Amino acid sequence: MQPDLRVTIRRDGVVRAVTWGPHLRLCGPTATLLEARDRAGVTLADLRILRDEEDGPATEVIVEPLTGTGRPDAHRVLADWAALLGYRRVWLPGDVRTLDTVDHALAGCGGKVQTHCTTCRGRLADGTPAFWRWVRTLGFFPCACPLCGGDLPQWSAVPGVVRRASARPAPDRGSATADVGVSDLRHPERP
Ligand SMILES: [Zn+2]
Repeated sequence: MQPDLRVTIRRDGVVRAVTWGPHLRLCGPTATLLEARDRAGVTLADLRILRDEEDGPATEVIVEPLTGTGRPDAHRVLADWAALLGYRRVWLPGDVRTLDTVDHALAGCGGKVQTHCTTCRGRLADGTPAFWRWVRTLGFFPCACPLCGGDLPQWSAVPGVVRRASARPAPDRGSATADVGVSDLRHPERP
C-alpha cells in the first residue's frame, strides 16, 4: 500500500505536504540527495492516514521518516500539525503520541487557520465548519493555491484566535471577511 502524503519539514518549522504518487518513489542516486537534505536539517517523511471508517475523518497518522529520524523538533512540529488537524494519535518512530485534540467533526470548527501562497503571495484563511469538514476528511490542509495553483505551506492557527473546544456545532458565518476563504474556491480534484 502506498503512502498518502510526502511531508517536508524545514529547519524553521514550515511544513509542506503533497499527495503521494509513484514519482516520489526513491531509488538510486536520490539516496545521496536525501543524505544532503538530512545534513541540512530538512526532515522528509511519508505519511499513512488511518480512518475509523472508509471516507470518514482522518483519525491517526503513521510517520515513516526518510530523513531526520528521531529529530525531536521535527517530531514536535509533526505532532502539532496533526493535533491542529484533529488527529487523535500520531505514530512517530519509537514515539507514539496520543494527541489532545478537539473532535472537529463534532465541534464543527477547529478555529481560524491561515497560510500564505509562496507564488502569488496571497493570504488564505478559513475556519468555517465546511472548511474543517473538508480538511478532516482529507487529513491535511489544502496544498495548492486556489488562485494561482502554486503550492502552499501547511496551514497554522491564526495568532490570537482561540480554538473552539465546544462540542456544539459552530454557526457557519461563511468566509465574509477580509481574508480569502477557500471553502468556496477549492478545486475538487486538487486539494
Ligand atoms: Zn497563489
